[in-house]
Amino acid sequence: MNIVIFGPPAAGKGTQADNIAKKFDLFKLSTGDLLREEIEKKTALGNKISTIINKGTLAPDEIMNELLEKRLSNNKQVKGIIFDGYPRNLSQTINLDKLLIKFDKKIDVAIRLKVSLEVIKKRISGRLVCFNCGKTYNVFFNPPKYDNDCCNIDSLKKRDDDNVDIAIKRFNTYESTTEPIFQFYRKLGLLRDVEGESSIEQISNEISGIISLIEG
Ligand code: AMP
Repeated sequence: MNIVIFGPPAAGKGTQADNIAKKFDLFKLSTGDLLREEIEKKTALGNKISTIINKGTLAPDEIMNELLEKRLSNNKQVKGIIFDGYPRNLSQTINLDKLLIKFDKKIDVAIRLKVSLEVIKKRISGRLVCFNCGKTYNVFFNPPKYDNDCCNIDSLKKRDDDNVDIAIKRFNTYESTTEPIFQFYRKLGLLRDVEGESSIEQISNEISGIISLIEG
């Protein structure tokens, strides 16, 4: 079972991808996380892309395609993958399709989380990420409990690209670049819309229902 999950920035893609990965024993492949790791480690690639990410624009396709291929070849044996943050445009969609054929895999379902810009703005202004484990919280919707050693006052921070102006820009980029992707998956009969403004649990249940139906 291979899944792609879509949604505007702060739609809850990462959280849902984590939940679904755990529940269905899938490998989560988040290109945003891969890029943030490179930035954190101050690699040559990280230094090159940090300005791009902080401006809220997309990294070049060649960089992303190379990163993805490397990850896929390192994880050939996984039971299934949930792609979070890739593909971001039609060219990446076609690249993913070709790469999956090469690795003898295919996409089984494309989940689209639908969330309005108003909700996105609130989610972005409240989002906190644990820089130890990558878990995401939100001061309004899913506040951290500060009851474990990992996600604490020192490790929970705002992402550098999380501010409302950048959020609007990222939302607009998402809207303008993703429609051709949805057409691609719609034509294949793989696109499923999920209401992304309900609770984390309700959304997880809805996505799980869709996957279970496909798994049969
Ligand atoms: P995300 O964590 O998915 O919101 O990604 C954070 C940022 O990483 C984006 O705003 C882009 O700058 C960059 N990024 C992540 N995935 C991709 C991709 N597939 N193509 C281009 N840029 C990406």
